[in-house]
Amino acid sequence: MSPQKLRAVWSPAYEVDIGAHVFPTEKYRRVKEELVRDGTLTPDSIRHPEPADWESVARVHSRAYLDRIKEGTLTREEERRLELPFSTALREASLLNCGGTLEAGRWALGEGMAVHLGGGFHHAFADHGEGFCLLNDVAVAGAELRARQEVERVAIVDLDVHHGNGTAAIFCQEPQVFTFSMHQEANYPFLKPAGDLDVGLEDGVDDEAYLDLLERHLPTVLDGHGPQLVFYLAGADPYREDQLGGLALSMNGLRLRDRTVFRECRARGIPVATVLAGGYARRLADTVRIHGNTVREARTLL
Ligand SMILES: [Zn+2]
Repeated sequence: MSPQKLRAVWSPAYEVDIGAHVFPTEKYRRVKEELVRDGTLTPDSIRHPEPADWESVARVHSRAYLDRIKEGTLTREEERRLELPFSTALREASLLNCGGTLEAGRWALGEGMAVHLGGGFHHAFADHGEGFCLLNDVAVAGAELRARQEVERVAIVDLDVHHGNGTAAIFCQEPQVFTFSMHQEANYPFLKPAGDLDVGLEDGVDDEAYLDLLERHLPTVLDGHGPQLVFYLAGADPYREDQLGGLALSMNGLRLRDRTVFRECRARGIPVATVLAGGYARRLADTVRIHGNTVREARTLL
């Protein structure tokens, strides 16, 4: 067994029954299975996270919102905005996702790299959830690590096809957390609170144009802010076959995107904790492959 094996966090509880839905919650298990099958991950390198405790979640979410989640008393309007049926299983999965991203952040700080086969729920705001996101795991993890003085400066590199609206709003008054989002401009969310660097892309942007822009902007984030930890949201939804995305990246282009992020961080000695975020390809196997490729790239650059 390689001493340099990549560490991953995952929980079977991420697979929540949400009925017929465009969000395939089975993708987490499928990604894990594919990566174990091809040897990218060994079974003993995959840890099941602890759920985040309510105190750490409350570092970014309002008490009133958390009380409604605890009691299962979200209003019909809140559930409509969330675009998911609320259940205790969803609440548990969301707490585990927060704990999983926190654990990946800690591992990354110690070992340079960690992947969470979950996470990236960037549409959750302090006082409400939306767009399939109940709790903002990356915001919770970043705030908790900062509060415990395990890290001071954090950058969030959000390359999901959708703007990281909740994350931008949560950290808008926090200069130590840099929020970078590169996303399709004419897509959900239609109101995009300003992050520290927002790059809104035209519809149909292809591999070449995308990678050019990424290489232009990423050094601004990494050199300008000087983060001690990067949380990378490696959404699979900039893929050209995505049902909720309108960009035109190929599977290989997405892999080059991941390689660029890992390479640029590594060149500067910045630890990276990667989370999966969105992915809604017409074929679930494509989403699973794209997320898997992210982990394969992470392992290559360990
Ligand atoms: Zn997305």
